[in-house]
Amino acid sequence: MRRSLVLLSAGLTVLSTGFASAQNNTPRNLILFIPDGLRALKITPETAPAMAEVRDKGVNFKNSHSLFPTFTMANGSAMSTGHYLGDTGVFSNTIWTNYTSVPAGDTVVPFIENDAVLGDIDEHFKGDYLNEETVLKMARDKGFSTAALGKHGPTYQWDHTDHPDKPGLHSVVFDDATGTKIGVPLSDEVKAALTKAGLALAAPSRGDNAKAGDAKTPGTTVANVAQQAYFADVATKVLLPMFKARNKPFVLVFWSRDPDGSQHNTGDSLNQILPGINGPTSMAGIKNADNNLAQIRKALDELGLSANTNIMIQADHGFSTISKESKTSPSAKLSYDDTPKDFLPMGFLAIDLAKALDLPLFDPNDKNAAVTGNAHPKAGNGVLGKDPTKPDLVIATNGGSDLIYLPNKDKKLAAKTIKALMEQDYVSGLFVDDQLGRFPGTLPLSSINLRGKAATPTPAIVVNFRSYASECGEAPTNCSVQVADTVLRQGQGMHGSFSRGDTYNFMAAIGPDFKAGFVDELPVSNADVGMTAAQLLGLRGSENGGLVGRVMSEALPNGIVPKAFKAVEKSKKKSENGLETVLNVQRVGSQRYFDAAGFPGRTLGLEPDAGKQKTAGK
Ligand SMILES: [Zn+2]
Repeated sequence: MRRSLVLLSAGLTVLSTGFASAQNNTPRNLILFIPDGLRALKITPETAPAMAEVRDKGVNFKNSHSLFPTFTMANGSAMSTGHYLGDTGVFSNTIWTNYTSVPAGDTVVPFIENDAVLGDIDEHFKGDYLNEETVLKMARDKGFSTAALGKHGPTYQWDHTDHPDKPGLHSVVFDDATGTKIGVPLSDEVKAALTKAGLALAAPSRGDNAKAGDAKTPGTTVANVAQQAYFADVATKVLLPMFKARNKPFVLVFWSRDPDGSQHNTGDSLNQILPGINGPTSMAGIKNADNNLAQIRKALDELGLSANTNIMIQADHGFSTISKESKTSPSAKLSYDDTPKDFLPMGFLAIDLAKALDLPLFDPNDKNAAVTGNAHPKAGNGVLGKDPTKPDLVIATNGGSDLIYLPNKDKKLAAKTIKALMEQDYVSGLFVDDQLGRFPGTLPLSSINLRGKAATPTPAIVVNFRSYASECGEAPTNCSVQVADTVLRQGQGMHGSFSRGDTYNFMAAIGPDFKAGFVDELPVSNADVGMTAAQLLGLRGSENGGLVGRVMSEALPNGIVPKAFKAVEKSKKKSENGLETVLNVQRVGSQRYFDAAGFPGRTLGLEPDAGKQKTAGK
């Protein structure tokens, strides 16, 4: 499916400001390494020597940003297209699609970390649900060898269009689904090379690493070692030698599920805030990702590819330890089979809003069954209203933030919903669709680049949950704790909030097109990753929306070094009960970077009163 090609002048300006030599010569190879959920300040030469080496010898992006909502698919969409979420429409990991997705389990609120679900959503949204081209597809169209390996969902999203039953027309994709019906089929060439290298034609499962536990059983105590060793072996023993033999440039994406999976499921801290996600299982997850990177760099050396290969490392988001505590939530006063007394159940937002708005609650993950008595929705999601097939309000549950949709765009219901949310101690900051008008205590979606040319429905209200720093004995962003709407337990891990703990992702780069030993003080984000990757590869995408990132020119030899400024934005008026959403912003030219947001005192890293000031640059 072809979309009309529209090049916006804003995008061209951004592209032309930086470094240009990659366009004049044959582009270098590019490896994008994504350690899922890696917090910026967890990396030391002891915890993760390979990543520390890239950061310390290459570029150290000290002022990095994951985009809010700080979830995997959302940030993967930004990295892979260079666009903010208002354009890509990937507002979270679970979104409302306004149609029933069969592969997602017959629900209108699919969890999209799944190749079959992505294929289904693409089909529904005219062949490309992101509504923007990805860097990997552009590279493939231009004749690069391309591959993406790793975590199910975000890996495939790097080159998700075109039908996967034509493997020759698709990037090589290895993920959890490889070898199953929903995986992207492997070409005969790749299959033969796997067999020659003594590697299986199907990916191993996560094994014990996938065990989340429950309220009485701790989760996993092991990292995702075996599965990721397979992906690393495929990359180093099969794909890199194959790409070298083709004697043309390549782009390879490696999406390491660790440390995300190990931090989510950690069994180190059941129902306790400490050590939370700083226990040995999380640290083993970080080391596992680091081992994969070390193996890839060693293979590049042995194949003689290092001098001609750039490596960009960027986590999709940071991470926080889960809290299930609230003094105000009616849902926490009920008792549930699977939830400790006084803790918030999964789906607390849906339960509390159904009560406050006096609307019936139905479960879109259970054939729209009514949720009554001492029960919670199975996946936390809820549809509210008299007729579950024509709901007044939909809640897509995600973790450190949730999405609320108002299918009828009812402004009165929006006002009532906002008022109810303002009463809850677990809420910290509300962002409301500009089309619904301005509401006291909130900020508009456009203020955080969530209003653009999205093909998927734009949420009416994005609800950020409370966060704070525990006494974990490390930097505050390493000690982030957040209220999270999730099946996971207090003491396990989650992300998705506007805590600086979640927005502060690890980022570093090394290679012939990057400065060496350079500390970048300027703000950068995952949208900039996509723009910079495209620039290094000499690619220009069609642009439907104009919410694009910036080429990180200051990190490139002879690139310009722009100025950055800090600002604080607030709701125009406070809510009736005195709350206001505050947003800490950094600015480089027209680019906006979001550090933290929420109600003062309820978000880690939020500075309610910091004045306008220059942060870095000349
Ligand atoms: Zn995660």
